[in-house]
Amino acid sequence: MWIEQCEETDCFMHGLERRNPGEQEYHQAVREFVESVMPFVLKHRKYKDAQILERMTEPDRIVIFRVTWEDDAGNIRANRAWRVQFNNSIGPYKGGMRLHPDVTLSVLKFLGFEQTFKNSLTGLPMGGAKGGANFNPKGKSDREVMRFCQSLMIELHRHIGEDTDVPAGDIGVGAREVSYLFGQYKRLENRFAGILTGKGLTFGGSLVRTEATGYGCVYFCENMFNQVGDSLRGKTCVVSGSGNVAIYTAEKAHELGGKVVTMSDSSGFVHDRAGIDAEKLAFIKDLKEVRRGRISEYADKFDGVTFHADERPWNVPCDVAFPCATQNEINLDDANALIGNGVKAVSEGANMPTELAGAHAFLDAKILYGPSKAANAGGVAVSGLEQSQNALRLSWSREDVDEKLKTIMRDIHDKCVEHGQTDGFVNYVRGSNIAGFIKVADAMLAYGVV
Ligand code: NAP
Repeated sequence: MWIEQCEETDCFMHGLERRNPGEQEYHQAVREFVESVMPFVLKHRKYKDAQILERMTEPDRIVIFRVTWEDDAGNIRANRAWRVQFNNSIGPYKGGMRLHPDVTLSVLKFLGFEQTFKNSLTGLPMGGAKGGANFNPKGKSDREVMRFCQSLMIELHRHIGEDTDVPAGDIGVGAREVSYLFGQYKRLENRFAGILTGKGLTFGGSLVRTEATGYGCVYFCENMFNQVGDSLRGKTCVVSGSGNVAIYTAEKAHELGGKVVTMSDSSGFVHDRAGIDAEKLAFIKDLKEVRRGRISEYADKFDGVTFHADERPWNVPCDVAFPCATQNEINLDDANALIGNGVKAVSEGANMPTELAGAHAFLDAKILYGPSKAANAGGVAVSGLEQSQNALRLSWSREDVDEKLKTIMRDIHDKCVEHGQTDGFVNYVRGSNIAGFIKVADAMLAYGVV
């Protein structure tokens, strides 16, 4: 049976790689998924006979378009944008938009693929999608970002809608960009509808959406600790990134009694042995969300803090690692450094932050390893709650939304345990992949040959 699984996985991946040449991130995301799911598919022949894996790894459609805009100096600029509508078997497409110079189709396909199963895990009726553009918002004025977002929406608006596809934020797309995008949609369609999530609180946004991915990632980690009779209290935590996910991961980890000693950006990381408390985090929020500065300024501001240029924080000894910046930010050496220093848990706020070899190392070391599909599903879950509030024309209280988020993260955790536990050890990678797969696969089977 094991040999059959290996052969089936390798054979499947060979075909996928041939059909999607050069798309390394996409290959990686699918391989991680298929390694978990293939044994389950071989055991349940209805999925195999219906070629479900082959169908699931082919996006429903991809829209590619040019975004032309004018910079402040009057130069004409052109970027490429995409929307990957991956799978809408269990609900309208849902997933963020990323603005970053490194965005490629491969990155968006990996993100859209993972989003499909993450959304399934939340228990809410949401399909999977992702989009973005190879536009760099860094160093651009507000007006330049506005003109870019408006131009992007001139094409995107044809493809989205509250029952079709509901984008949200991601790297480079925060409150400012969502507002520009929503304002332009409203102007083009003459409709006020919940076609984007992460909106401002005065125009249909949900309380706790800003915090949801980070808070959810910490709730997931606390659930993993509780499963083994432990908790975050007193644990030293290493966080990477200093964007939306990282800031609210650090905030909640601190609130639950953890000591956060690092944060980073693409220029390096800061190490604060005394711990990043609420007051210091307020400085980072202002630095990153308002002034759009660099994390090195934190080291200039506070005593006893060191800045490590062009380095990642994974060699800093810790009990818990929260990678919250970007994909493939933990390689095998980083994973081994964390394990060597006694890390007890890794909870992924970013999408696919760990390379495949690093993920295998975490599983072999039998640490508590919460993969992104499960651990960072809190953001899209509260986006789903934002859609519900928009449809009902209601606004729920902060306490209500936070309580729902906690319940969703606990349910996701329990589904991972149900499908990932063997001999007392929970393989959260296998658990999340199988639990996410079943719901989408069963809907596809029910629809027949589509
Ligand atoms: P964000 O607010 O734009 O912050 C991204 C952070 O990561 C910044 O500190 C950025 O540093 C750093 N970063 C980006 N690219 C990097 C690179 N190549 N190397 C090193 N650092 C890099 O984005 P975000 O919303 O927090 O998203 C972070 C991760 O969480 C992404 O993987 C995203 O897909 C995932 N995620 C986000 C949400 C959400 O609700 N926002 C939900 C689920 C998952 P610089 O400022 O120097 O670029």
